[in-house]
Amino acid sequence: MVSVTFTWLGHGGYRIDSAGGKRIYVDPWLENPKFPESEKPIERADILAITHGHGDHVANALQLYREHSPKVVAIFELASWLESRGAEGASALGMNKGGTVEVDGIAFTMTDALHSSGFQDESGITYLGEAAGFVIELENGLKLYAAGDTAVFGDMQLIGRLYSPDVAILPIGDHFTMGPKQAALALELLGTKRCIPVHWGTFGLLTGTPDVLREQAPGVDVLDVEPGQTIEL
Ligand SMILES: [Zn+2]
Repeated sequence: MVSVTFTWLGHGGYRIDSAGGKRIYVDPWLENPKFPESEKPIERADILAITHGHGDHVANALQLYREHSPKVVAIFELASWLESRGAEGASALGMNKGGTVEVDGIAFTMTDALHSSGFQDESGITYLGEAAGFVIELENGLKLYAAGDTAVFGDMQLIGRLYSPDVAILPIGDHFTMGPKQAALALELLGTKRCIPVHWGTFGLLTGTPDVLREQAPGVDVLDVEPGQTIEL
């Protein structure tokens, strides 16, 4: 069977290569201090999924779009904002929570996230719709829950009931998102037994670690991934 791989790009960004050969980037932030040199330059991108409008998730979206014309999966306001900044066609799939869009045989269902979503530049903060997550169902049936930035919330139980994700990609760094204690509860609510922790270790403010998550979530396979490392899912 052709495998699905996950490559961590440091911080909240990662690359998924699907069984059908599609390359998906989720929230890539090239300036993050942990972005792996081995991942530069980005060679191709079929799909760009963006969870929300904070700079550490959206800052390189325009550049990526200009260079590779990926299909953009994002909430309506954020997709439209990218289009207004020159990414012509980026809003074609602009969606909202509860909805599913299929892109090249891969289904993206937009979920809730407990977070904010504003882009800050010289003119202030522009609000870009709500923060979101995705359930990504790949061509071979593998289902990933890409939580985006979020605190734990009770409706993760609904995500578990509806989609039974095989792997949960959760932020654990604390400060801007949930830390390990909340992530452990998230895994319990989701009923998911495999977790890839992200949004940790980028800089000193993010104190949550996979080891603490392991202690808090016995019975869950917390996968060890270094920035730049590729693992099979
Ligand atoms: Zn954020």
